[in-house]
Parts: sequence; C-alpha cells; structure tokens
Amino acid sequence: MIPFVLLLAIGLFAYWFFTGRNKTAVKNLEPVTVDIPLLEKNVLFYTKLNEEEKKVFITDVKEFLEEIKITGVDIPVEELDRILVASAAIIPIFYFKQWKYRNLYEVLLYSDAINMDFETTGNEERNILGMVGTGSFDGKMLLSRHALRLGFSNKTDKQNTAIHEFVHLVDKADGETDGIPNILLDKQYVLPWINMIQEQMQHISRNKSDINPYAIMNKAEFLAVAAEYFFERPALLEDKHPQLYAMLKDMFDKP
Ligand SMILES: [Zn+2]
Repeated sequence: MIPFVLLLAIGLFAYWFFTGRNKTAVKNLEPVTVDIPLLEKNVLFYTKLNEEEKKVFITDVKEFLEEIKITGVDIPVEELDRILVASAAIIPIFYFKQWKYRNLYEVLLYSDAINMDFETTGNEERNILGMVGTGSFDGKMLLSRHALRLGFSNKTDKQNTAIHEFVHLVDKADGETDGIPNILLDKQYVLPWINMIQEQMQHISRNKSDINPYAIMNKAEFLAVAAEYFFERPALLEDKHPQLYAMLKDMFDKP
C-alpha cells in the first residue's frame, strides 16, 4: 500500500512536471490565425523560403504568438506588429529545430524610442530602440514599434532592431549574453569566432569597415549587429566580409 503522503508527493511532482517546469511554454493565449498576406508583403526572409519551409515558418509564427504575449504600452498593437515581432523571433532560429524562447514571456511595444525611465516622452534623451529586460523586467523584451517596422521596411540599411534583440536572447540561452551563443556554435568554432570578432572590431575602430560601429561596444553587441547585417543584406555581407559571412552562415543557416 502506498502511504497517502507519498501519493500526494507523486501527485505534486506530476503537477510540477507537466505545468510548472515549463512555465513560459504554456499556451496562455487564444489560438492564432497567421495573416499570410502580411508575411508575404513585409517579411523578405519568408518570401525567399520554399513552400515546405514557408509552412514551417507559419507554424512557428503561430506557436510563438500563442505563447508570448505582445502588449502595447502606449499604442494599440496591430496585426502587422504581431507578425513582425514573431518573424523577428523566428528568423534567427528558423533552422534550429525544437527551439523555444524559454527566457521570454512578453514583448512590450512602445510607439517610439524610450529613455532609461521607459518613457517615450520627456526631456531625458530617448535612444533605446529595444532591449532585453532584466531585474523586474526579466522575461520581457522592450521594443520601439517605429524601429520594429523600419527594420522590416528598409531593405538597404543593415539594421533590424527586433532581430538584434532576439539574437541577444538566443545568446543568453546558455546563461551568458557574451556574444558566444554556445547553442549555435560547436566548441571547436568558439576560438575562431572570438578571433574573428577581435579582428572585425579593429577594422571598425580604424574606420575601415561598413559594419555599424555600435558593434565594438562588446562581443554580445558585435554578434547582434553582425546578425542584423547577415539577415538584412546577406549578399552584401558575403561580398564585403566573406569569412564573417561563412561563420554566421554556420550558426544561423541550414545545417
Ligand atoms: Zn544590443
């Protein structure tokens, strides 16, 4: 006979196993229908996929939107915003099967850039276009809707704020936001990658590079900025920085 306390313990464990341990992946939102014409019109990455891959992308977008809440702070969230946030999340990990953003449960959308007090108005300089929340904002991402939309509509710059922030989250998944995404990078490529970052940073600081100078801030920013370039202008990156392109392709592209 199993004592009642043991049964209770098993029951509690089962409850934790099926619910608590996977908190961020619990479907907390209503079923979503993905607006495919919006994807076709606004997400270049999607339009370049083959039919099979497109189906997978749509499913990924749908699952993301069923699991991660998108909240407008000072604006109503439109369907386009939801599609763009989900696309920015899926693009960096599209070829990484079974990926879940376990370190995220909500995206906060602001009309425009915010200041250090998370305001879109006021005198204090507003220069934050996006950030991965920490402290009381842990599990949240803050994004400027203006930057989100610009990232997808401008096809000639090498910038996409939302992709940049999601790459920080992918980087963070191994415990450290350090520019070395262990999840995407096999051990033997870690040292060559660090050497590549240092070499590229030197070129940037000598004004001999077309990579956004924000990349020299630290290795994490280098990864995020380089990934923006890779997803926004792959052909140009391959032409200008073939070795960097090859390493990013190994991380983000088809295995
Ligand atoms: Zn960053």
